[in-house]
Amino acid sequence: MRQITIKTNRRCQLLDITEQIAHTIKEKGGEPKGVLVSVPHTTAGVIINECADPSVGEDIMEHLEKMVPESHKYRHSEGNSDAHIKSTLAGTSVLVPVNKGKMVLGTWQGIFFAEFDGPRTRKINISLLN
Ligand code: ZN
Repeated sequence: MRQITIKTNRRCQLLDITEQIAHTIKEKGGEPKGVLVSVPHTTAGVIINECADPSVGEDIMEHLEKMVPESHKYRHSEGNSDAHIKSTLAGTSVLVPVNKGKMVLGTWQGIFFAEFDGPRTRKINISLLN
């Protein structure tokens, strides 16, 4: 397993990590059948969605904020309940097939780290599956 570290600079933010994952697969070599990307956090997530038009990601984050507003009468005293809920909705891992060293993604698909309680330093675990 390889772990990479990223820094987010806003409270809620999508970061395209497709190239970093592709680079890790290339660096490790071999003929993996898949790659598991997971984030060991409870207020962040990882998603696959459109990477060509950045307004798609903006719409996703804006709609998540409408569905799960930051301010609400939540029980959790840390003040980041919305981020925990958004992490649950987004999910904390994606599994992508790999063929001949390349991820099998759709033309418009990219892998995004989803920050819901930044800015922070975050970890991403990348496991190549044989
Ligand atoms: Zn919390």
